Amino acid sequence: MEHYDIIVIGGGSGGLAVAERAAPHGARVAVFDPKPLGGTCVNEGCVPKKLTWYAAEHAAQARDAHEFGVDVELKGVRYADLAKKRRAMLKDLNQFWAGHLEKLGVTHIPERARLTGKDKVISESGTEYTAKRIVLAMGGAPLVPPLDGAELGATSDDFFEWTDLPKSIAVIGAGYIGLEMAGMLCSMGVKTDVVAMEDRVLEMFDPMVSQVLDQHMEHQGIRRHLGVKVAGLGGKPGAVTVKIEDGQELGPYEKVLWAVGRKPATGDMGLDEAGVEIARDGTVPVDKWQATNVDGIYALGDIIGKAPLTPVAIAAGRRLADHWYTPEKNPVPVDYEQIPTVTFTHPTAGMVGLTEPQAVERFGDSVRVYETQFGGLDRAFAEGQTPPVAMKLVCAEEDEKVVGIHMIGPHVDEMLQGFAVAVRMGATKRDLDLTIPLHPTSAEELVTLKEARPGRQTGLAKAKAA
Ligand SMILES: Cc1cc2nc3c(=O)[nH]c(=O)nc-3n(C[C@H](O)[C@H](O)[C@H](O)COP(=O)(O)OP(=O)(O)OC[C@H]3O[C@@H](n4cnc5c(N)ncnc54)[C@H](O)[C@@H]3O)c2cc1C
Repeated sequence: MEHYDIIVIGGGSGGLAVAERAAPHGARVAVFDPKPLGGTCVNEGCVPKKLTWYAAEHAAQARDAHEFGVDVELKGVRYADLAKKRRAMLKDLNQFWAGHLEKLGVTHIPERARLTGKDKVISESGTEYTAKRIVLAMGGAPLVPPLDGAELGATSDDFFEWTDLPKSIAVIGAGYIGLEMAGMLCSMGVKTDVVAMEDRVLEMFDPMVSQVLDQHMEHQGIRRHLGVKVAGLGGKPGAVTVKIEDGQELGPYEKVLWAVGRKPATGDMGLDEAGVEIARDGTVPVDKWQATNVDGIYALGDIIGKAPLTPVAIAAGRRLADHWYTPEKNPVPVDYEQIPTVTFTHPTAGMVGLTEPQAVERFGDSVRVYETQFGGLDRAFAEGQTPPVAMKLVCAEEDEKVVGIHMIGPHVDEMLQGFAVAVRMGATKRDLDLTIPLHPTSAEELVTLKEARPGRQTGLAKAKAA
């Protein structure tokens, strides 16, 4: 039986982070993963998504270029070419990780693994291993609901296998993955509908962002069927219909995409045998240092069910290794309160901290909201009405500490990172006011907001008077 200091199950964002941070300290580390290294982010998530988003964005810009006198004719998107280049780039990343682990002396075992005890693992081929520490980092998979005809729908994993674009699609789900896919497809010329149970798109975000994104989707011609429950899929491959619970039937569409969430890959992992607690939704509860209820077994990344994002999984993995090997440097556990997040919709949307409703729930009447909607210079020559760029600052308490920032518009994905640092450092509205704006940009709006929205101001006055 082979023994390691650390066995990592899952070679994705979180698993690779803990392995690469621990190995230089002399730890004997093995990473199990039957798939090419990199996990969801590299193979079926962030990276192929962002590459596809760039294609969609170039198409949108080519379409609008004539407004500035630039003579371009958009003939279409050669999707097969894009898919081929994308595949090649992902392969490079897989190879990078394989080489990087080898250099670090980390063993990659290209097999599925499961627990057989609190310090034991068995590979698919039946080899047993023991370890002082086991890190569970299996990520998740797209959820396909058990509905009639569900198999006629594709998932985000399938999306990245397509080498041509459908003529029409219904995306089921209005969370970030569904809306990103809908935005990209529409921008590349696919007739796109979104069908979702939620009453507004991007429900996790501040209502202002949902509302403005909805206007952009309307402008782009994406039809939204919101507040409806899907009962199943009908028709046949290539002409799929979406059956709604009230008896309506939408479509047919050439393709239907399920984007109704992801499930943690914790089934059939031997967690019961090892005594690891699993929550009802399949996630693994952990403490602030990723420890499960079983000594020596840790869990991180998407399977813990908090903020399923690549940088969060990476931070958890690195900080866990630091906690083990360099405690003298006072590593801190991941703070789940102030995680910036963006969606690569068209346009991009982003947030850090609390939404306005969350802030009101926490800080009551002391909440002050500063917001603006405006037309960016990039749309200065657009014909007719175009949906706005929108920004909101949510501040709280006497010193107007910034507790939430929300934005939707071009490039907000790139703008938000710096503002997230400011929020983490406890910036107040006055700090933003004292910052010299960068002109002419859209970002400057966030440091030049003047009047708080009436109503909440009254609330603060009330709180002070009390
Ligand atoms: C379409 C899409 C777009 C996304 N876009 C973004 C984005 O823009 N930004 C962002 O921050 N996040 C994004 N994410 C989320 C991000 O990909 C995940 O949060 C991140 O990959 C989670 O990392 P992880 O380490 O938990 O798991 P993963 O990266 O999912 O890795 C888990 C690995 O474990 C392996 N595994 C599973 N079971 C076993 C087993 N029994 N034995 C061995 N190996 C096993 C799997 O093969 C997989 O490689 C996106 C996700 C999707 C699906």
